[in-house]
Amino acid sequence: MRRPAPDSDPAPPGAFRGELPGLGPARRRSLAEAGIASLEDLLWWLPMRYEDRRSPVPVRLLQAGQTALVKARVLGVRCRRARRGGMSVTDALVTDGTDNVHVVWFNQPWMARSAPEGSEVFLYGRVGLFSTRSGLRLQMDNPDVERVPEPGEEPLHADRIVPVYRRAGKVGSKVLRTLAAGALRAAPPPECLPAVLRHGEGLPDLPEAFGEVHFPSEPPETSAPFAAARRRLVFEELLGIQCVIARQREARSRERGVVIPKSAAAGRLLREILPFRLTAAQRRAFREVAEDMAAPSPMYRLLQGEVGSGKTIVAFLSMAWAAQSGFQAAFMAPTEVLARQQARVLEGLVARAGMRVGLLTAAVKGKVRKALLEELASGALPLVVGTHSLFQEGVTFARLGFLAIDEQHRFGVEQRARLVAKGESPNVLVMTATPIPRSLALTLYGDLDLSVLREKPPGRKPVVTRVRDEEARPRVEAFLRGEMDAGRQVFVVYPLVEESEAADTQAAVQACERLAAGPFRGYPLTLLHGRMKGAERERALAELRGGGGRMVVATTVVEVGLDLPGASAMVVEHAERFGLAQLHQLRGRVGRAGQKSWCILMRSPGADGAAAERLALLERSQDGFEIAEEDLRLRGPGDPGGLRQWGGGGLRIASPARDLALLEAARRWAGKLQKGEVAWATGERERFDAWLAAWGARLGSWGPIG
Ligand code: ADP
Ligand code: MG
Repeated sequence: MRRPAPDSDPAPPGAFRGELPGLGPARRRSLAEAGIASLEDLLWWLPMRYEDRRSPVPVRLLQAGQTALVKARVLGVRCRRARRGGMSVTDALVTDGTDNVHVVWFNQPWMARSAPEGSEVFLYGRVGLFSTRSGLRLQMDNPDVERVPEPGEEPLHADRIVPVYRRAGKVGSKVLRTLAAGALRAAPPPECLPAVLRHGEGLPDLPEAFGEVHFPSEPPETSAPFAAARRRLVFEELLGIQCVIARQREARSRERGVVIPKSAAAGRLLREILPFRLTAAQRRAFREVAEDMAAPSPMYRLLQGEVGSGKTIVAFLSMAWAAQSGFQAAFMAPTEVLARQQARVLEGLVARAGMRVGLLTAAVKGKVRKALLEELASGALPLVVGTHSLFQEGVTFARLGFLAIDEQHRFGVEQRARLVAKGESPNVLVMTATPIPRSLALTLYGDLDLSVLREKPPGRKPVVTRVRDEEARPRVEAFLRGEMDAGRQVFVVYPLVEESEAADTQAAVQACERLAAGPFRGYPLTLLHGRMKGAERERALAELRGGGGRMVVATTVVEVGLDLPGASAMVVEHAERFGLAQLHQLRGRVGRAGQKSWCILMRSPGADGAAAERLALLERSQDGFEIAEEDLRLRGPGDPGGLRQWGGGGLRIASPARDLALLEAARRWAGKLQKGEVAWATGERERFDAWLAAWGARLGSWGPIG
């Protein structure tokens, strides 16, 4: 194998550097589809777990039900067709001197060649019981096989701690293991981090780290070299993000954006349209926005606050402020339903000032759409609310000065960047209801300025929350009927459970029918799900606006984003399948008019122990930040509710919650690198820059502004 010199030209993106053994065109294609297009990608396809295959078990001691490694000689092997089903069955009898055991492979006829008579093999697999005429006997079913190699060579799939990989397309774990070993032998990627940094943080170099993570020398749970290798890879990822952030921040501080000066007229306008007294937190947030907009570099601010904390009004006031100064302002909502709803609220707010509001979603078509696009392009329409339709081809603004993005994590990074590109660096306010612990927010969203609404508008009462199981269902149903009898609205929420949205919708439709025919016969029910279209959806929404005494059955969180101030109770089915932060966000949908309100978390049969304990936190706490921290601690920021949702996608190993200390270290080093405070050895600088460029490309415009 050719081993490229460390600072040879990087291969074009998508190419494997060096040929990998055992990689034909079909596999190459399959890997590429799974996102493995280079040798680096392959090494970054990290094991999901490990199997300790170090000690062979003497055949005499094998027990049914055990998964074991056996080292034995093949006494005989034959392949035949099963009488039924046309399956091929390969049978072998092996011995290690302590005893014999049968081995069977189904539909793997090549096994007769992998383990020919007389060969010595490692077998790793489950030991089962098989009944024969003469009674039960032990047998190994479909074990992994590897020939015991010549002295001086090491086996790959046995006699060591073995990595297990997630499938990559059609390529399974065993092949990936072979490829990883080949890649490590052939051309380990050159080190990208400067030596001073690695020494400062006590990190092994990259080839060593990859070697240890793919083929640990000791059991990973307790191994110091493994921990160091993992830290090395985590650090690299976090440093990549922090460097990109540091650059963006620096670039943005030099950027010149739309300046919207403070004016007395705008102030008067706000006082005129404001329907209530802002909370102190809202006033502070609005002041921060107004100051940013008046500053020469474009605003780039994250407004955090739980559902109901009053973020929307801050955005609307900012829009009116921008419009009053002669700019256009846009509000991007995550769904069609929400866009319509928000457009209506904004219209109500600015009508008194004689401002018009446009609505642009996929459902707006034909002449209406054409007229709207013309008005946006000419600047005649100052305010627009929409979905991602706002940044499609053909939508142009005359002078977009302010852009609010609601529930930012529902928008892809790329979509955001495209909308931003429509204006000349407009001021951007990103809103999220996911409370992100401050330390995390600063490090993950380090390129954003933060405003937080921790205080809620006056008169909010806590949502009384209870975890209940099946046994309590009749009482829960009686309670819901009581609420509806009193003229209030109630929610029943189902999680996404199936693979497809169609299947979920089907399940919700059936659930709705069951409820309508059974416990809630005679009560008006409205079903809301993600696949509802145009007229059907409008009808459902009209029903809801029609008022009280009604049940809303919803499939997903998105649909529950509706503002129904009269709703007093929510039942969440299979609550354990949601993240805590998500449940907290859901329950924020009830009690919005200040009435007493309830959230009942139905726990599925069998979801006890840790699951029940996790849910119990919601009974105790109403503090979204506390809940978010606990959620992170318990689940790690996986999907959903985790890192990816927050727009920090692309992480392959780092878990910013668990690796917070490393994240902070990475942030410090990114700062030093940005300021040029790092001493480089020969060639390091070039390798680091190439690495960072690749990172920048991978993250794309990782923040809303690229
Ligand atoms: P968020 O966008 O943070 O979920 P909203 O802006 O939708 O919250 O506010 C929730 C509800 O509270 C809305 O009905 C809104 O009109 C109302 N509200 C917001 N701020 C105040 C306030 N300062 N005083 C009274 N009601 C408010
Ligand atoms: Mg909102």
